[in-house]
Amino acid sequence: MNDMSALPTLPGADASPEDWLALLSGMNLVGGRLVPAAKLLEVIEPATLKPLASAPASGPAEVSAAVAAARAAFPFWAATPARARGAILARAADLIDAQAEPLARLLARETGKALRTECRGELKVAADILRFHGGLGGELKGETIPFDPAVFAATTREPLGVVAAILPWNVPLVLMALKIGPALVAGNAVVVKASEEAPFATLAVAAILSDLLPAGALNVVTGTGPDCGAALTAHPEVAKITFTGSEAAGRAVYAAGAARIIPVSLELGGKSPMIVCADADMDRTVAGAIAGMRFTRQGQSCTAASRIYLHRDVAEAFLSRLRAALGAMVIGDPLAEATDIGTIINAKQKATVDRYVALAEAHPGAEVIRCGRLPEDPALAPDLFALPTLLLGLPEDHPCVREEIFGPVAVIQIWDDYEDVIARANDSGYGLAATVWTRDLRVAMDATKRLNAGYVQVNQNLTIQPNLSYGGFGNSGLGKEASLEAMREHFTRSKTIVFAMD
Ligand code: NAD
Repeated sequence: MNDMSALPTLPGADASPEDWLALLSGMNLVGGRLVPAAKLLEVIEPATLKPLASAPASGPAEVSAAVAAARAAFPFWAATPARARGAILARAADLIDAQAEPLARLLARETGKALRTECRGELKVAADILRFHGGLGGELKGETIPFDPAVFAATTREPLGVVAAILPWNVPLVLMALKIGPALVAGNAVVVKASEEAPFATLAVAAILSDLLPAGALNVVTGTGPDCGAALTAHPEVAKITFTGSEAAGRAVYAAGAARIIPVSLELGGKSPMIVCADADMDRTVAGAIAGMRFTRQGQSCTAASRIYLHRDVAEAFLSRLRAALGAMVIGDPLAEATDIGTIINAKQKATVDRYVALAEAHPGAEVIRCGRLPEDPALAPDLFALPTLLLGLPEDHPCVREEIFGPVAVIQIWDDYEDVIARANDSGYGLAATVWTRDLRVAMDATKRLNAGYVQVNQNLTIQPNLSYGGFGNSGLGKEASLEAMREHFTRSKTIVFAMD
């Protein structure tokens, strides 16, 4: 344990989610301590609709305390050798791996995501991202610039100061790791604003890391967007904002950054196209559609392949295989090993999903295909479970085709002409991700050049990888996450230094 840490002994590998909740309920993490908040909000377990625990309803006072703690920690942390900073991230990754099971269970309970198909993997990926960034400490390099024999000119990379990292609820641990990993290794201090819907696994992982760091280098506050998030983005000591969430909140965050002229990175929504050509390998493509649409996460993914463009010649075969595969997936208790698909996060999000499906149903000629069966377990509240749903026969200007639904709902469109499908795929305000499925290398290469998205894949649908730069075009956001390039570009600033040598 870090000498300066005032954290209590943290639950170990044999702990239960309840042990973590008992420690974290009502707490922020500020200055290396768990600090109770004056006002609380209730966090509901989506699968049972019972209260899980309380989270802080933080406002400007709690935010100011967290930023002050980060500001105080910054000089010491920035002066710590970069590779020593990285070594702490790598050590935290090992500790998270060792305690992954109770943390995954905690995550499943607060998000409603299935333990086996989602939460265990999320813990692994979050640790992997921290480990990757831990290795980047030695890469904080500048350049020397040929200028004049009597002058030495170079650039150096410096940390920015206090970084505000604002998280959504859908994959909170992976998204936190993508922000705090590069921010901390680059020598910044961080204030994380956890999602008020699912703050506990975030806080637990941050506490494990904070235990190894100088007090205040990593802080976590929880509260609503208007009260807590807005106070953080407006704080005069925040030097950079990195935000993942909805387009609407992203615009507010960008405006707050503009008001103070500080750098802002935005990872926002998407409506990502998946183009299936007539020569695609069908089994692989159907598996890719299920993975890409993130059906095991109830489609709650910014990268979801939610517009599936099928070549007419293979549409029927593809659809019958997709329906069979989706129909065989088990929807149920997020903690049960048999479960493939858990719940949607909350009633508001479920109502949004239902509203879009009703809009599709009301469209003349449209077909709505629901797959699978809802759970009948009396221990579960049925309200937030949703069936994987396919929408067919909608025009390109229908809201279900244009807008992000953020639920288990994929739009299926048919195409005949390659030029036409590229144009339809690109006819979107978003530009986060795209995939193309074909055995023809020339078509694949052409599509990767022409698709207007920040992350384009051929014959696969990988999720975020730590060393592959990730970020959207257009309304999907600004800047990149993951990769050495993103750490250097978005979590450091470049300084030019010039020495007269004579
Ligand atoms: P959200 O925008 O409602 O909230 C995200 C976070 O921002 C929360 O912590 C919230 O409290 C905070 N917030 C809200 N308003 C704010 C404001 N005015 N100022 C500061 N902070 C504010 O999003 P959500 O419902 O939690 O998540 C779903 C959205 O996130 C979807 O639109 C999805 O596409 C997007 N998302 C994007 C990515 C990506 O990498 N591009 C990844 C995951 C989710």
